[in-house]
Parts: sequence; structure tokens; C-alpha cells
Amino acid sequence: MHKLSIKTRLSRVKWTKAVLIVTVIVFVFILRKRVIMKLRSQKVEKLIYTNILLAVRKMQGHKRFIPADKFTLKHLPERYQDKDLYEYIKIISNQTVRVSVTMTTPHRPDVWPKTTQPYPFHNMSNRRNLRTGSGRVKFINKYIDGFKQNGIIGRTDSALCWCKKCQDSDSPSNVWWEFYVHTATHVVFDDIEASHTTLRLFYDKDDSPVVSVDKVSLVGANIEYDSCVLKSVTCDKTLGEKLTIISEKYVNIWEKITNKYNDPGREYTLNFIVSHPHGCAKQISIGQRKYELHVYGGTKYTYTTSTCPGSSGANVLFVGYNDTWRFDVVHSGSLKSGLNYSGVGVFY
Ligand SMILES: [Zn+2]
Ligand SMILES: [Zn+2]
Repeated sequence: MHKLSIKTRLSRVKWTKAVLIVTVIVFVFILRKRVIMKLRSQKVEKLIYTNILLAVRKMQGHKRFIPADKFTLKHLPERYQDKDLYEYIKIISNQTVRVSVTMTTPHRPDVWPKTTQPYPFHNMSNRRNLRTGSGRVKFINKYIDGFKQNGIIGRTDSALCWCKKCQDSDSPSNVWWEFYVHTATHVVFDDIEASHTTLRLFYDKDDSPVVSVDKVSLVGANIEYDSCVLKSVTCDKTLGEKLTIISEKYVNIWEKITNKYNDPGREYTLNFIVSHPHGCAKQISIGQRKYELHVYGGTKYTYTTSTCPGSSGANVLFVGYNDTWRFDVVHSGSLKSGLNYSGVGVFY
């Protein structure tokens, strides 16, 4: 019994040892797993962090665009952080439209006038394709029974609304609005291209409701100046009235800005562009006016402001640029040096 009891005790000691060993093994195993998991999560964290950094760097390295709906006063260089200037840019932004063209005319020249530089989209084998650019609504007139109600520039040849919906209708509207859009000739070249053009308005963010007009005609286009004026029509009261209000606000703020930034002793170099790069939602870019190029009896401007394909035709606006003539230029192209250049100043 005593012997047995010793045996039992011995076996108990063995058991205790075994249990202890197993416990240690399990403990080490758990601990190891935890350490591995921690290291692994650190590695993942690091990887995610690196990816974010890479993405941010890529964005910074690519182009400096500010989504139109995120634009704040703080995005302006410190000396230009002025509420009126901010308001001015916001109104220009409201007037900016995306220009979509689904036809390329056979009448495009092979080279830019008096140069050997190839003209965009000349000799396209497939003439039915989608290209996008940018533009800006400049003037708007309201008509009732063919009589102009308000507006500064323009007249109509029509007695009733000529939008596509009304053209297909037995009772076209007798109240309508006609508005002018400034873009680049290399975006909309002639009547053929204008008749295949759609304008999307207020496309400020990815999920903006679609507001578009599909009846567009050509008022005038100058190849050398790369300046094209389109006319469009709508009998949508909400759209007509909205554009009229924006147009009135623009006239007020333009006057304010012109008077404010009119100190000949200070040189203002601020330049901004509102456009639809790659046909995407509206973006604002801020940069600097650089030097001028004297061509075709006029002036082209160069600037550092970011653009991408799809920005062509967007108004290029300078602040405090002391010109006596009121004209607007559009984004036309980029030089090998990386600087961008505008079309030639056009008189309205
Ligand atoms: Zn209509
Ligand atoms: Zn781009």
C-alpha cells in the first residue's frame, strides 16, 4: 500500500511535470502567435501607410486640381485670400460647362496656321467618337415670342423655342433662353461638330444631377485665335433663371474685382482655370501667369496652372491684369517646357 502510494506519488509528480511542460508549450505557442500577429499587423499597417503615402505623392506629382465643391478661401495663395476674389472664382466655376463632341469634322486643317505643328484630331480614321473639352457660359438672353426681355449681347431669329424637345413638339414654348458659350476651336471646330455637341452644366461633383443641353449651334470660330463661340437654347425655366442670376452676379463681381486689383504699383500674377479634366467633375486649378507670346497679331499667355486633356477650351483668367480691352482667352495647349498656353485674346 505504502509502495503503491509512493508509485502513485511518483506518477503524480510525472503528471504534474507533463502538465507543466504542456502548459509551457501552449503558453509559448500562444505567445509566439501573438508576437507574429502583432508583427504581421505592423507590417500591414506599414504597407497601408506606404500605399497611402504613395497615392498622396502620386496625386501631388500628377496635377494640382481642387474639386470644385471642395474649393475654399484657404486654397488661394495667402496674398490673394480675399472674399470677393473667392466669390469671383466660384461664379466662374458656376458658369463652367463640360463640352462633349461626338463627331470630328473632315474640315480640320492638317497643321496650325503658318506652322508645321499638327492640328488636333486631323485625319481621324473614326470620325464618330467622343471627345470632351471645357467651356464657359458668358451671356444669356430671355425671349418671349421672339422679343428679347433682358440680356446684354445677342439677338434671335426665332419666334419660338428651338430646343430639340420643342422642335419635335406640336406646341413649342414661346418663352425661352439663349446663351453663349466660349470654348476652343480645336474642341468644337465648325457647324458639323457643333451640331454633335452636348453641354453638361453644374457638374461640380461625381454625383451631381445631370443638367445638360443638346441643341448647340456655332456663332463663330477663329482657328488662329483658337476661340470658338457657341449658342445654345433652353425653355427649362429653372435652368434659364439660374443662368440669368449667375450672369448678373458675374457682372457685379467682375466690376468689384477689376476695381480692387487695379493698383499699377503691384504686379498681380494670379491665374486660375476651372475645367473638366478627362471629362470628369469640375476642378479648379490655381497658378501663375508667366510670359506672353505675340502671334497672329494678338497675344497668347503662358501659365503654370495645371491642366489635363479635357481642360481645353476652359477660360484662362488672370487677376489684376491691366488690359484696357475686355477679352477672355481659353486654354489651348502645353509647351515642351511644361508651361501651358492660351489661345489669342478675342474681342466680344
Ligand atoms: Zn424648348
Ligand atoms: Zn490627368
